Amino acid sequence: MNRSATDDLRLTPQTRQAPVLSLVVAAYNEEDVLGVFFERLEAVLAEIGESYEIVCVNDGSRDRTAAILAEAAARDSRIRVVNLSRNFGKEIALTAGLDNAAGQAVVPLDADLQDPPELIAEFIRLWRDGFHVVYAVRNARETDSWLKRTTAGAFYALLNKLSNVEIPHNAGDFRLMDRRVVDAVKSLPERNRFMKGLFAWVGFRQTAVYYERPKRAAGTSKFNYWKLWNFALDGITGYSTVPLRLATYFGLIFAILAMIYGLYLLLRTLIFGVDVPGYASTMVAVIFMGGAQLTVLGIIGEYLGRLYSEAKHRPLYIVENRIGFDDDAA
Ligand code: UDP
Ligand code: MG
Repeated sequence: MNRSATDDLRLTPQTRQAPVLSLVVAAYNEEDVLGVFFERLEAVLAEIGESYEIVCVNDGSRDRTAAILAEAAARDSRIRVVNLSRNFGKEIALTAGLDNAAGQAVVPLDADLQDPPELIAEFIRLWRDGFHVVYAVRNARETDSWLKRTTAGAFYALLNKLSNVEIPHNAGDFRLMDRRVVDAVKSLPERNRFMKGLFAWVGFRQTAVYYERPKRAAGTSKFNYWKLWNFALDGITGYSTVPLRLATYFGLIFAILAMIYGLYLLLRTLIFGVDVPGYASTMVAVIFMGGAQLTVLGIIGEYLGRLYSEAKHRPLYIVENRIGFDDDAA
């Protein structure tokens, strides 16, 4: 499979001693939080006592993130860094991380400590009990604004109605995945990487762990409502073709209404004779149909655009360089 343009640089996970755990973290302008992040994560990992590696993906940061990660990798050989050539977005950065993770179990987590590393011990316990995926579900969304809570709730309800993969509510990317699951996710070639959807799509034995999601430890959120809206569109178009059928239903409903209205006009003309008025109803019909048609065209466009970008078969991301991988030329 040709996913990264730098295949020659890519490790085959077999070339290095596979640790039990791979932690995968995507970081975009996270200079403020990386210090505390490593401190807390490493404390937790020391407690757990399994062999591990931390795969950090620098998603084209413009601050000191790259330097901080390089320092971390120099200090500890278990910390590895993948520098992407520009900002590709969290989903793709995470994909790059999964591609470079060798562990028997892989745990993606955010750099801002909103995914508390303390949960990892519980993840491992359930994994050893035989679950292939252990995902974290947040109890309450108090740390989010009212607007984000309601829109997120509506989005997941809609998504699960429209698609036939069950994407758990209030679960993020924070989870533990068995190697088999990671390999399955890696085998999905699509560019539209709505990771939660991919994780749900591959199936396997899954279970949930509940937690309170804390506020970001430092720095600011990299997402705004426009990004979230596009993320939601990716989710819906990636997992459902129901919106494409809207045109059919629109069309059917209006054809039936038009027939009834046509009959009514015919009868009225036969009984009362011809009358000219009707400007308002004509205008309403024209404007409404125009709007409905543009909407449906727009929906088709959303799918067509995605189809186009899939058809180009570009690599998902470009790696600028990698630090700390055994097969790297030093
Ligand atoms: N992130 C990334 N690339 C981006 C945006 C975000 O790698 O283009 C990373 C970011 O560094 C963090 C994680 O994705 O580790 C989640 O981002 P953030 O905390 O800003 O999102 P929020 O929690 O506000 O939804
Ligand atoms: Mg966050």
